Amino acid sequence: MGKSLSQYRVDLPPDEIPDHWYNILADLPEPLPPPQDPDNGRRLELLKKVIPSEPLGFEFSTERFIKIPDEVRERYIQVGRPTPLIRARRFEEYLDAPVKIYLKMEGYTYTGSHKINSALAWVYYALKDGARLVTTETGAGQWGAAVALASALFKVKAHIFMVKASYNAKPLRRFQMQMYGADVHASPSELTEFGRRLLKENPNHPGSLGVAITEAAEYALNNGGKYVVGSVINTDILFKTVAGLEAKRQLELIGEDPDVMIGVVGGGSNWGGAFYPFMGDELRSGRVRRRYIAVGASEVPKVTKGVYKYDDPDTGRVLPQLKMYTIGSDFIPPPIYAGGLRYHAVAPTLSYLMSKGYVEGRDYDQDTVFKMAQVFAQVEGYIPAPETAHTLPVIKEIADEAKRTGERKVILVSFSGHGLLDLGNFADVLGFGKA
Ligand SMILES: *Cc1c(COP(=O)(O)O)cnc(C)c1O
Repeated sequence: MGKSLSQYRVDLPPDEIPDHWYNILADLPEPLPPPQDPDNGRRLELLKKVIPSEPLGFEFSTERFIKIPDEVRERYIQVGRPTPLIRARRFEEYLDAPVKIYLKMEGYTYTGSHKINSALAWVYYALKDGARLVTTETGAGQWGAAVALASALFKVKAHIFMVKASYNAKPLRRFQMQMYGADVHASPSELTEFGRRLLKENPNHPGSLGVAITEAAEYALNNGGKYVVGSVINTDILFKTVAGLEAKRQLELIGEDPDVMIGVVGGGSNWGGAFYPFMGDELRSGRVRRRYIAVGASEVPKVTKGVYKYDDPDTGRVLPQLKMYTIGSDFIPPPIYAGGLRYHAVAPTLSYLMSKGYVEGRDYDQDTVFKMAQVFAQVEGYIPAPETAHTLPVIKEIADEAKRTGERKVILVSFSGHGLLDLGNFADVLGFGKA
């Protein structure tokens, strides 16, 4: 392809969308530490009842590739896949260093982030089980919006339990879900026993993700529905590898092989979805040579200060415990705007890879990140989500290093989402005045 414009933007034709997801469990050097149930099997029992059945089988599968059903592939195309791989030329110029920066643009999908990649799969399998409805929790609303859209495209009713504080503070994302026909409930709600109990104790309970998870699971259980999970667990990351498999093909087409991989970690699903297909090749070859960097928020410092141990994935303690880097399931994160990074722990698979020293951790505070997001918007023209913007200081770090050493580096960044619904938050921190 030489010097053609195709080296600046690589698109795949619809027919080349991956036909299998990639499962990292096939290539880990040893088995992943299994979930633990401190309640004598009750938590696992609940999980088995509320989660779609086929994906539950994937959770422990060591098959390397799992076929993507045609119904899901077709809807991937509809919502904007394959997403382009875009070279950040203007940002490279700004950094003035011998680096090539490739962004895998998950914000080009209809809901504006990578979350639709698994939402479509989960809803498809829920429907296959004959579910009458699907439920989930959402904080800032990205995951809820993805489940709402996936449900619309499969014609099934979605009930989204949205943390009450966000329900009131983030109406735009709620309207997005309602536009897609979902019922959005401020959590805690009167719809579940758990919610009613909390509201009786405190009618002004602000809610939390943990509470919303418990409510969503209870509501699914009692109403013939299925509960769908938006990150952390192996199966969710498996579904999200469609992005990384595309990126691999796109880089092959232009003859590039990245040296450094950079992505943010909420629960770890965009990170794993983008990079596991690359990491898997290296694990199989017996040598991990690339640099893999996981970035978080310093306000929620799990990737830099977390402890690798068994912990609850939810504050309601209804789900089985997982071995993860965690800062504690009762850690109350400060109210930062990168809502997707406020989760307290790192996915078990990614935690395992971190524990083996294959992945470096970084974190950055909101002010630093938002200022760089503004620079990036001006030089590159794209407004990243607050979560996604946490990759920017690391890109700069790698660029500065390349400048010092004179060594050329190719960087692949998982660009998890756009920030067009987060402009109010940028305005707040960057001082543009009130909306
Ligand atoms: C949810 C979200 C994240 C973090 O979640 P992961 O499961 O770690 O990917 C990152 N970026 C965006 C834009 C998000 O919406």
